[in-house]
Amino acid sequence: MKEEGNSKMEKIVSLCKRRGFVFQGSEIYGGLKGTWDHGPLGVALNNNIKREWWKLFVDSREDMYGLDAAIIMNAKTWDVSGHTGSGFCDPLVEDSETGERFRADHLLKDHGIDAEGMLLEEIDGIIAEKGIKSPKGNTLSPARQFNLMFESRIGATAGDEGKVYLRPETAQGIFVNFKNVVDAMSPKMPFGIAQIGKAFRNEIAPREFLFRVREFEQMEIEYFVKEEHWEEEYEKLRKDIQVWHKHLGLRDENIREYEVPDNDLAHYSKRTIDFEYNYPGKGFDELAGFAYRTDHDLKSHMEASGVSQEYIEPDGSRYIPHVLEPSFGIGRAITAVLCEAYTEDEMGGDTRTYLKLPAHLAPYRAAVSPLLKNKPQLVEKAREVFTMLKKEFGNIAWDDNGNVGKRYRRQDEIGTPACIVIDFDTLGDEKPEHKDTVTVRDRDTGEQERFKIEDLVAKLSE
Ligand code: ATP
Repeated sequence: MKEEGNSKMEKIVSLCKRRGFVFQGSEIYGGLKGTWDHGPLGVALNNNIKREWWKLFVDSREDMYGLDAAIIMNAKTWDVSGHTGSGFCDPLVEDSETGERFRADHLLKDHGIDAEGMLLEEIDGIIAEKGIKSPKGNTLSPARQFNLMFESRIGATAGDEGKVYLRPETAQGIFVNFKNVVDAMSPKMPFGIAQIGKAFRNEIAPREFLFRVREFEQMEIEYFVKEEHWEEEYEKLRKDIQVWHKHLGLRDENIREYEVPDNDLAHYSKRTIDFEYNYPGKGFDELAGFAYRTDHDLKSHMEASGVSQEYIEPDGSRYIPHVLEPSFGIGRAITAVLCEAYTEDEMGGDTRTYLKLPAHLAPYRAAVSPLLKNKPQLVEKAREVFTMLKKEFGNIAWDDNGNVGKRYRRQDEIGTPACIVIDFDTLGDEKPEHKDTVTVRDRDTGEQERFKIEDLVAKLSE
């Protein structure tokens, strides 16, 4: 099962490169570990996911407000949030011969030991007791804490004064703007602030394609509630997250809600559910997180900055709101969507590969082709149809490479739900009753149907 899954993942990674979804970062220089670049189709898929998320969680609701905060923030933010301390470190061990670095908790997990929350000495003890070696079979150094934040320097200041960090999560940009949003928008409780943006983590061992990388995008919401309402609001948002995963086309059996046990909770959280996806070759692992963070963040920022973070109700009562945080990584969503969509079947006696992407996520909504590219009347008519659909949908492909069969295979592989072909019947030369109709081929069934050109927009909008 695991091997089958690994090979499925390898096929997906190879398809992503071949068809322009995802390339290794800085590839011509040998790459840069933990970075990936989105190609033309990857950008389209990524943007579609972000647009759909924003539509569902922000535009279709009255209680959500958008935000786009700076990536580089005043460094005090990260002291107050706990990220500069040991709370944002992973335990690191080194191969004593090669110097390669590994996450000690991952090595222990490979031996069936859960190291979550363990002290460094406990990790060292287990490594010694079980004789755990590096993957190359060498001894390991004692474990030490490794902070995951990337550091930089701002302006021309030397020393620690100009030290800044690339944000490791988008959440803190929301907390420090809580008061600004309240003052500008006068939101009624409960309400949320949503943000999509890049985050950076200097992961010790980036791996598994887009699953664990050093530069990634997050879609996060901080949802502010009165303390006594947190449980009911938690349940509502939990359902919204389930709806979102369905909207991504992820099947119920591939999603698991893992209730993080109390002893594994982050110090600020009273309840966290990890939404896990069943990645091929890997099994269930985190796709998104949903934490109840109490009033920890706003309270800490209020104490450190001296700026009140209280919410004032119309009746004059005031309190620091409690916070629910759904947090989604786009790379993991893309991986799950591709794993779910990747399908191999038989068609016309051949094995074919196709991406069964939901139409609202597919890079192209449809592809338009003339049956033959050397017949000017066909090309002219096909360009007319293409221009009309492109005006309406934007993401329409023009494809006149190779024969029609090859075009179908290519569009199948990138998940285009419909292929529209303009043939001699469209021109009405032989069958006048077919004039101004085109064939529309369905990606999943391979079946073709004729439609009037004037009905195409409605058909594709279904
Ligand atoms: P993990 O335990 O897998 O390291 P985490 O619990 O540290 O993840 P959070 O801090 O809860 O992750 O971040 C929220 C979301 O951001 C995760 O659910 C995931 O989708 C995404 N994410 C976090 N770290 C990475 C990473 N290094 N690469 C890609 N996505 C990430």
